Amino acid sequence: MSPDIVRSRLERLRGLAAESGVSAVLVSPGPDLRYLTGYDAVPLERLTLLVVPASGDPVLFAPHLEELAAVASPVGGAGIPVVTWRETEDPYALVAGQLGSVSSVALDNHMWAEKVLRLGEAMPTVEQLLAGALIDRMRMVKDDAEIAALTRAAAAIDRVHAQVPHLLRAGRTEREVGADIAERILAEGHVTVDFVIVASGPNGASPHHEVSDRVLQSGDAVVVDIGGMMPDGYRSDCTRTYAIGDPGEEFLAAFAVLKQAQEKSVEQVRPGVSCASVDSAGRDHLAQAGLADLFIHRTGHGIGLETHEAPYIVEGNDLPLQVGMAFSVEPGFYRAGQYGARIEDIVIVGEAGPIVLNHQPRDLVVVS
Ligand code: ZN
Ligand code: ZN
Repeated sequence: MSPDIVRSRLERLRGLAAESGVSAVLVSPGPDLRYLTGYDAVPLERLTLLVVPASGDPVLFAPHLEELAAVASPVGGAGIPVVTWRETEDPYALVAGQLGSVSSVALDNHMWAEKVLRLGEAMPTVEQLLAGALIDRMRMVKDDAEIAALTRAAAAIDRVHAQVPHLLRAGRTEREVGADIAERILAEGHVTVDFVIVASGPNGASPHHEVSDRVLQSGDAVVVDIGGMMPDGYRSDCTRTYAIGDPGEEFLAAFAVLKQAQEKSVEQVRPGVSCASVDSAGRDHLAQAGLADLFIHRTGHGIGLETHEAPYIVEGNDLPLQVGMAFSVEPGFYRAGQYGARIEDIVIVGEAGPIVLNHQPRDLVVVS
């Protein structure tokens, strides 16, 4: 990450903090810190904390033994001072001293409870708020480099899906297939496997089923939802539904409706429309076919440095889409005890409409 990007993101956050009347934003290791500074610090019990005051310059507090890593990261390149503390010092008192008399601090949403409470003890009169609303406003809208990163991640997971038909066959277990898929997620350029769902037959009715020792059988529909993290931290997430032999008329009819519903939600994507309307476009189509009760989750979630992040594509979310937002569109249907299906693509909001990042065919892929 270039020093310019780090400086401009921190300046933007400083402005948002000032605008919302928060004295400072405090960010511990995790995706928010990586987004703001490019520093992919390991979350540990020792306190590493970025302090972004509403007026004044940002500072990174880090344990002395992490100093070289912090300075070698884009934090150093951007000239952000790194204040280190030694094992016998109290880093919370140091942070409180640096902040001086402030009225409120906004903490990143994933900060460990231990750190939240110790910051509270060190600054007993300072109101603690969540920083998520501020940081999400920035992270939700991807810049060109982030869109390129998500595009590479999507291409990598597409290459894995292209191999799935060769791995699925009657007689193999979900676990065996899942292990092969996990290997390929890494082989195709990811550095971690975030999740591998191989949900066959009745297991498909549980949207977040992972793998089991169930043996694949002829007639099974198989939901394969997979994702991982690329070296730059950006994530992939893509679902295709497969069948081993003939899954039956009822399933095929429902799947045809699902494919149209997914297209309708994707077509709805353009600047200015609400997240909720992307959800309802597909949901209404499923409802017309009597499948509304079987679509038991929201239509999608934002994606970036985390697999699930803002914006959420869900009923009631009136947030208007902006150019550069990135999220999944993943309707499904789930009939308990029988089968499930889902189709999922990552979509970017473009000036003129949706830019779909995943390109593997969305039709049911039937293997013998
Ligand atoms: Zn998924
Ligand atoms: Zn997803």
